[in-house]
Amino acid sequence: MLVVMKAHASETEVRDVCERIQKLGYRAHAIPGAQRTAIGITGNQGEVEIGTLEEMSGVAEVIRVSKPYKLVSRDVKDTNTIIRFPNSDATIGGNEIAVMAGPCGVESRDQAFAVAERVTRAGAKFFRGGAYKPRTSPYAFQGLGVQGLKILAEIRDQFGLLIVTEAVDHETLDYVEQYADIIQIGARNMQNFSLLKRAGRANKPVLLKRGMSATLEELLMAAEYIMSEGNYNVILCERGVRTFADHTRNTLDLSIVPAVQRLSHLPIIVDPSHGTGKRNKVTPLSRAAIAVGASGLIIEVHCNPDEALSDGLQSLYPEQFDQLMGEIRQIAAVLGREVPGPITGVLPNVVAGTVATTANPR
Ligand code: PEP
Ligand code: MN
Repeated sequence: MLVVMKAHASETEVRDVCERIQKLGYRAHAIPGAQRTAIGITGNQGEVEIGTLEEMSGVAEVIRVSKPYKLVSRDVKDTNTIIRFPNSDATIGGNEIAVMAGPCGVESRDQAFAVAERVTRAGAKFFRGGAYKPRTSPYAFQGLGVQGLKILAEIRDQFGLLIVTEAVDHETLDYVEQYADIIQIGARNMQNFSLLKRAGRANKPVLLKRGMSATLEELLMAAEYIMSEGNYNVILCERGVRTFADHTRNTLDLSIVPAVQRLSHLPIIVDPSHGTGKRNKVTPLSRAAIAVGASGLIIEVHCNPDEALSDGLQSLYPEQFDQLMGEIRQIAAVLGREVPGPITGVLPNVVAGTVATTANPR
């Protein structure tokens, strides 16, 4: 059920309707759109007792939402969600393409810093790197844990990059929430409903990766879990699904991008690294992802991929990442979108304050 407010409804009218919904025993989610605010009602098992909602001041109409997902849907909000961050001009879901780049895992301070410098120079505004790695083998590198998170926080201070890193369970989510700018929920956890609810109570945006064999509806329902707890800053991510094809690690399903955009206001980005598992396919699929209209890319980059402790075969060399950025800049321009430019010259040291004279080095 959805309460659509009149275009000029006042804040008080919106608040009164939310309070009435809560009194009825449901949860109210007021979501402002370009034209009007819609209030999603969740927490109901079956029919909502509408009562006098329809008669309340400022209400345009009360509509039944036939789809199983509500808050992620364009019925609630027709304009695209744009995610913003404190102390950064980076956005996700707006005109600028959000580029997240970095190693699969944080292996050491030196390794992570070396990649961070290269991806900053190339124009990325987000740094990815796992401190907790979900690995198929319990004997494989599991990540540096809190030590890795501290390295990531240093990278944010040094380079001004926003940090994207994965939480694998409740315990690690508590730590990731403290250190990261975006909490990543990995493919293997896309239907870990208790973790999704915890992420929904976090105070940071969530990057939700598509499960290995999840349908579009299952992905949207997973996002709904997060939003139903009150966190509306969700970024969806296509990272390939399992199919019979074995020439790539997964089959990157780029058709889900326009399919999601038709149904949902949430941004969707593409991960061509896990989507293909092969370095030589990352750039072509990145070009395609931008052409298909993705809001961004998440890409694995390593200065020495042969020595990488995880996912070396799909990690780009920094020079390849430079080239990729140049190419997607041109493709984005055709669509009226922008990819941030490279940084030449001395890199600002954000923490030491030398950024003051070069406030916008781009
Ligand atoms: C990753 O981003 O390093 C990762 C493990 O991704 P996924 O959950 O998509 O496999
Ligand atoms: Mn990886």
